[in-house]
Amino acid sequence: MTANLLDFDLEGLAVFCESLGEKRFRATQLFRWIHQRGMSNFDDMSDLAKSLREKLKLHAHVAALPILSQQFSKDGTIKWLFDVGRGDAVETVFIPEDDRGTLCISSQAGCAVGCRFCSTGHQGFSRNLSTAEILAQLWFAEHFLRQHLSHPDRVISNVVMMGMGEPLQNYNALVPALKAMLDDHGYGLSRRRVTVSTSGVVPMISRLSADCPVALAVSLHGPNNPLRDSLVPLNRKYPLDELLSECTLYLNKAPRDFITFEYCMLMGVNDQVAHAQELVQLIRRHAANGLRCKFNLIPFNPFKESGLLRSDDATVQQFASVLLAAGFVTTVRKTRGDDIDAACGQLAGDVKDRTDVASRIAQQRAVPIEWHPIQQKSIQI
Ligand code: SF4
Repeated sequence: MTANLLDFDLEGLAVFCESLGEKRFRATQLFRWIHQRGMSNFDDMSDLAKSLREKLKLHAHVAALPILSQQFSKDGTIKWLFDVGRGDAVETVFIPEDDRGTLCISSQAGCAVGCRFCSTGHQGFSRNLSTAEILAQLWFAEHFLRQHLSHPDRVISNVVMMGMGEPLQNYNALVPALKAMLDDHGYGLSRRRVTVSTSGVVPMISRLSADCPVALAVSLHGPNNPLRDSLVPLNRKYPLDELLSECTLYLNKAPRDFITFEYCMLMGVNDQVAHAQELVQLIRRHAANGLRCKFNLIPFNPFKESGLLRSDDATVQQFASVLLAAGFVTTVRKTRGDDIDAACGQLAGDVKDRTDVASRIAQQRAVPIEWHPIQQKSIQI
């Protein structure tokens, strides 16, 4: 079997070139052809020696993922469903805005974390994607969009690892993909514009800060452990104080001086003023140790199996006003692409659950979400 060159960051490609008896610098030329120019045919790579092209044809290939569907939202959002084999499919979403183009990339076929409000989590988990499968989403989208939009230069300025899967549970494949995104010979994206979103895999947050610090977003969703346990099961392993302490340490190497906390607004579950007040207390305790953050409130995109409802606008605004009054930068995410089910939390792909996560969540679903009364604390605003 020949090697898919999308599986390598530049260093990996240099090692591969050496294994073919070639100089390391050939990897830079090859990397540019593939990632900057979107080429997959070695014969078109005109400044490579013919002897190298022949070796590459024997030992390597550049393979895109087969596309199962492509949907265009009326707001400009585009969603692709890619076939990753063995009956699994993953989704990738492009979100254009005035000043940026953001690609939301999947890292796993399904997800084992099983967050209650997440459509992917309800599908269960099949497998980790390879580096090539992660990078192929960017490689295809960038070069497709240049053609589709008749845009000669880079279209995708931001990447968020927020599609299907928990990226930090696929760490070994994730890091080379991130490095290729950041590499000036690859996509040349700024560290500040590449975001890894995690539900809180604490040990891997510290490894990411050492190996490839990029912007970090953390799915918080609850201001106390009992409530977060019921929404993000990983919290039972890595509870809030441990997670927030790790976020504080991450800031020592992060390209941004804040962590983004994602908070999905669920009607009657985590969206009350008392929750916002408790959240302020929680973050203030960690701010004393150096934690800096922004909040991004996410309108929930309901799906039947979740048994959850979207908070109404007034409740979201009220929640946001508590955070804002406490001095925290707080935004409410604009829903994009919901006419094509591309909005946050709606990505479900098509996954064969091979670890029975879906049935575990189904059992949880039978249990109504408990209301966890929280102490009303007065906060100083
Ligand atoms: S929110 Fe993220 S971590 Fe949680 S189930 Fe969905 S994909 Fe997995």
